[in-house]
Amino acid sequence: MSAARVLVVEDEVRLAQIVGRYLEHDGFTVRLVHDGAQALMDAATFRPDVVVLDVMLPGADGFEVCRALRQTSDCYIVMLTAREAERDKLAALALGADDYVVKPCSPREILARVRAMLRRPRIETPGPVWPAVAIGPLWIDVEARRVEVNGQALDLTRTEFDLLHALAARPAAALTRSELIRAVWGPGWFGDEHVVDVHVANLRRKLSATPAGAGLIRTVRGIGYGLEDAS
Ligand code: CA
Repeated sequence: MSAARVLVVEDEVRLAQIVGRYLEHDGFTVRLVHDGAQALMDAATFRPDVVVLDVMLPGADGFEVCRALRQTSDCYIVMLTAREAERDKLAALALGADDYVVKPCSPREILARVRAMLRRPRIETPGPVWPAVAIGPLWIDVEARRVEVNGQALDLTRTEFDLLHALAARPAAALTRSELIRAVWGPGWFGDEHVVDVHVANLRRKLSATPAGAGLIRTVRGIGYGLEDAS
């Protein structure tokens, strides 16, 4: 099994190196970058499993990098927030970060969070397994992990696909955030349930690229999400 890859994004070069050394010593394959723009370029080629992302960066800050990463990647994101401000932590989670560490922190603490991320189980195929699901304009080829709206293919991340599949597996129901988390991230998941909202928002945006896809996912107030019954 290949080593998990960690991208460390931190402009304080010395801190980045120390954290990198801890991670390498623990068996991870590590890449260090020192600004946000480079982080996005490297994420595309290095394909990290986990990104350790500092908020305070030159150029694009960590929040912008997090938002951009989430459009294309399911990697785990651990943000380093310099302030105790609750606002920063909530902002990080709202943008799709999986966890955060408040600086100053020890490299050992960062290593512990990275390891904790990788212990989170992911379920490959949630719900009952059918080879394909068709709901209104939506066609989900479960085996090929391919989604089409009126014949137009969508490029979804693994998490977005799993969310859509979980919703489609029970089309008449509204699923709560915890049900979606169980289906997509697995029963051992811990963390802020609003991570679901971030991925649903990205999924909706991609579905909305086709007129028939807009409005396919409905918000059920006080409960969670469901698929619009298009029949
Ligand atoms: Ca920094």
